[in-house]
Amino acid sequence: MDTLLKDITKAASDGKLCGVVAEMYRELDEQVRGLEVICRRCGKCCRFGEFGQELLASTAEVGYLWAWLRKQASKLKKVPAGKSEWSHKVCPFLEDESCTAREARALGCRAFFCQAEGSDKERMENMYEAFHKRIVELHKQRDVSYHYLGWGEAMSAVRSFVDGS
Ligand code: SF4
Ligand code: SF4
Repeated sequence: MDTLLKDITKAASDGKLCGVVAEMYRELDEQVRGLEVICRRCGKCCRFGEFGQELLASTAEVGYLWAWLRKQASKLKKVPAGKSEWSHKVCPFLEDESCTAREARALGCRAFFCQAEGSDKERMENMYEAFHKRIVELHKQRDVSYHYLGWGEAMSAVRSFVDGS
């Protein structure tokens, strides 16, 4: 197993780390609810190719996703089998324009609203930065190597786990 996969596995198996990530997600969601932004749930921003924006996630976030997915057998088959399935760059968890992995979606999914403007946009960006900083720190505290992965790379790591499980 290569280093990246080992690091994600370590994060996924660390109950303390996963608990802190879950708590951070709860806090971030709470703060986001205080913004005056509306998401029409059109799913466009989850079609990265079309939308022209990449989603990035840390080792801890991908580990948390993998730990969650392991308990959701029906979701495992959504993870793309290879590069060709990822070529359209659409998140595999997008279904009928809705996210089917809401509980485990990454910080970048939670703190993004295409229609946020002005002070709301700034607050949202600041929230992302603050939580990302805490996540970076969490890697150090839990002795897990920090990687910052594009979503395609994250999906391919998760696929390796699915194939090996
Ligand atoms: S943030 Fe914007 S693009 Fe993304 S789902 Fe909501 S309305 Fe659609
Ligand atoms: S995990 Fe959910 S919110 Fe995030 S990109 Fe995928 S479908 Fe969209």
